[in-house]
Amino acid sequence: MVIGGWQKNSFIDYPGKISCVLFLSGCNFDCPYCFNPDLVKNSPKNVIDLNRVYDFLKNRKGLLDGVVISGGEPTLHEELFLLCEKIRQMGFSIKLDTNGSRPHVIKKLIRKGMVDYIAMDIKTDPVKYPFFIQKNSNPDHILSSINIIMESSLDYEFRTTCIKPLVDAKIIDCISRRIKGATLYALQQFQHTKVLHPEFFAENERRYTDTELFHLKDIAKVWVKKCIVR
Ligand code: SF4
Repeated sequence: MVIGGWQKNSFIDYPGKISCVLFLSGCNFDCPYCFNPDLVKNSPKNVIDLNRVYDFLKNRKGLLDGVVISGGEPTLHEELFLLCEKIRQMGFSIKLDTNGSRPHVIKKLIRKGMVDYIAMDIKTDPVKYPFFIQKNSNPDHILSSINIIMESSLDYEFRTTCIKPLVDAKIIDCISRRIKGATLYALQQFQHTKVLHPEFFAENERRYTDTELFHLKDIAKVWVKKCIVR
C-alpha cells in the first residue's frame, strides 16, 4: 500500500468534521475524467511515509475529528484494515471514499466497525460500467456495494460526477431509482483539471451547465431523501 498524497487539514471532505485526507495509490477503474491520473497509474509524485502519517495524527488528537481514506481505490489494499485499526486506536472517525467495485471489502470493513462514513461513487448506470469505466468491471459488484451500504447503519452518501455521455437524464433517473430512499445523493460538477484521458474531452463538450445540473437534480430528488449539487 502506497500513500501517494495527503491533505493535512480539510473542512470539506468529511461532512461536519475537520479531517486529514489520505490518498492511496492505485485504482482498478479507468474513468476518463479522473483528476488523479498519477495515483491511478500507481506512479505518485510523492510517497508519504506511513510512520510520518501516524506521527502527524498522534499530534493532532483533539484538533482533527477524522481521517478520510481516499484514492485511487482504497479497498484494493489488504493493509487497509491495519490502517483503519491504527487510526481508530488514535480516536479518529474514519470516512472511506470508494468506487464500490469491491463489495466484500466494504462489507468486512462495516462488519468489523472500522469505518463511520462511506462515500461511494456511482459513475453511470451500473450496466454501462464495462463500456464507460472498465471493460472487465462487474455491474453486480456495484449493485452489491449499494445494497450493503444502504443496509448498514452507517452515515453514507452516493455521488455522481456529471459528465456526458456517462450521465444523462435517463441515467440519473435509473441510478436514483436504484438508490431509492438513500439519505444523500450528490451530483458533482466536473472540474476540468489534469485528467486521466484528455482525449476524451478533446472534441465534445462533456460538462453540464449549472442549469442542466439542477434539472438532473429535479429528476433525482424524487427518489432519494436528499439530493444536492456540488
Ligand atoms: S475517478 Fe476514482 S475510480 Fe475513477 S479512475 Fe480515478 S481514482 Fe479510480
